[in-house]
Amino acid sequence: MSIAENLDKVNSNIIEACKRSGRNPEEVTLISVSKTKPLSMLEEAYSHGVRVFGENRVAEMLEKEEQMPADCDFHLIGHLQRNKAKLAVGKTSLIHSVESLELAEVISTLALKAGIVQDILIEINVGDEESKYGISFDEAEAFIRSVSGLSGIRVRGLMAVAPYTENPENNRVYFKKLRQLSVDIKSQNIDNICMDYLSMGMTGDYEVAVEEGATHVRVGTGIFGERDYSI
Ligand SMILES: *Cc1c(COP(=O)(O)O)cnc(C)c1O
Repeated sequence: MSIAENLDKVNSNIIEACKRSGRNPEEVTLISVSKTKPLSMLEEAYSHGVRVFGENRVAEMLEKEEQMPADCDFHLIGHLQRNKAKLAVGKTSLIHSVESLELAEVISTLALKAGIVQDILIEINVGDEESKYGISFDEAEAFIRSVSGLSGIRVRGLMAVAPYTENPENNRVYFKKLRQLSVDIKSQNIDNICMDYLSMGMTGDYEVAVEEGATHVRVGTGIFGERDYSI
């Protein structure tokens, strides 16, 4: 299948998932996750309407961003080390993966210095997996309160990488929990904290994530094909 066919398929699956759950497809942003993929593939996606790309490494993101047309929007979805934050702040419309107070502080300080406010999401370890980054459910509210005073960042919502599974239905419970957490936090009306974004769902489970309220789905393999890490 070509990138164009894959995009058509993913977009129509998102629309169907919205129909099943009574949602407006305009509430859902498809992030085309282009990590490890060559520029030519991003260009092909661009020519089929893609403007929002997801990358997990800062250097790779910057390199692609420089070469792609200016109306592209790059999201940083992968783990961000504090010493790389300087490169990322102001270069991405949304950092999805903030999961420590130190990182939030560094981003905020850099943003203030640059005279901007950096939009971020808080990463939640929904499956409580040791191998994954993220704040636990139990600590989420306290963590969000602790970053709410940082004026260089704006918390837009939550992000999660659900456990790997062959059956996307297995992840419905995690998506429901994440949505509920965002509703709970929103109801607290914490200063400087919006909960309008919910970034959840990848190639294996994005349709279920949309049914459960995702506003951003991050799809790589389903658009660009398998990644080859050996090269
Ligand atoms: C790679 C990656 C994705 C995309 O994964 P696919 O299974 O290829 O769709 C989504 N989110 C994050 C955080 C990733 O690192």
